[in-house]
Amino acid sequence: MPITGGCRCGACRYTLNYPAIPVIYACHCRDCQTATGGGFVLQAMMPAARLVLTGDGIERSAPNSRGGVTTQFYCAQCLTRLYSTNTARPGVALVRAGTLDASDTIVPAVYMWGSRRQPWIGLPPEAEVHAEAIPLERVMQIFAPNFS
Ligand SMILES: [Zn+2]
Ligand SMILES: [Zn+2]
Repeated sequence: MPITGGCRCGACRYTLNYPAIPVIYACHCRDCQTATGGGFVLQAMMPAARLVLTGDGIERSAPNSRGGVTTQFYCAQCLTRLYSTNTARPGVALVRAGTLDASDTIVPAVYMWGSRRQPWIGLPPEAEVHAEAIPLERVMQIFAPNFS
């Protein structure tokens, strides 16, 4: 089964070139709460080359708080954000995993910015939760399967 997803209106569709849903993280930071208008974001960090997108999209770029430039890709019709890239990580895409067709089957591998988590959102007792960003070395371990 190909891993597929798309925007709210159906104009933009994508396929992720993986045999199963790639490793996904949840970020509870305030920026992600603001960007989504929700409590957290679910994202897959993966090579942009493994994302095949169809449909009419728009891109917007803006400086981020870490000194780079983040480019967001949206459906041109319904403005669902599908993924982003960052000049700090060339060739890497952050796919907004809530747009996967099988989003109801996602289990995040790791949770970050737990210190900013909305207090009513419970996490599994065995969950790996980082109070702030995930240390870079651990990021490489957790997401290695997406890059192999
Ligand atoms: Zn759309
Ligand atoms: Zn965040």
